[in-house]
Amino acid sequence: MNIELKPCPFCGFVEPIIDAKKTGGFYGYCLSCFTRGPIALDRETATALWNTRGYPPEENEYIVGLTQPEQEALTRYIQEMSQK
Ligand SMILES: [Zn+2]
Repeated sequence: MNIELKPCPFCGFVEPIIDAKKTGGFYGYCLSCFTRGPIALDRETATALWNTRGYPPEENEYIVGLTQPEQEALTRYIQEMSQK
């Protein structure tokens, strides 16, 4: 599964990355303005969270903290993206 990261929503930088925390988890990261996306338990979810921007970047909640509808929406998004 390989979902492409969208450009940074704040500065438009076109090559944000998915970085890994030493303590576990992944997050989208803009090398230009240093915006960090929400932390997720895997790269695909971190990418989806970065792309959908459903959460403020400073809110470093793990994906397990999401509500049921939020998790379902995210799962659908990941499935759609991975079928392309
Ligand atoms: Zn940026």
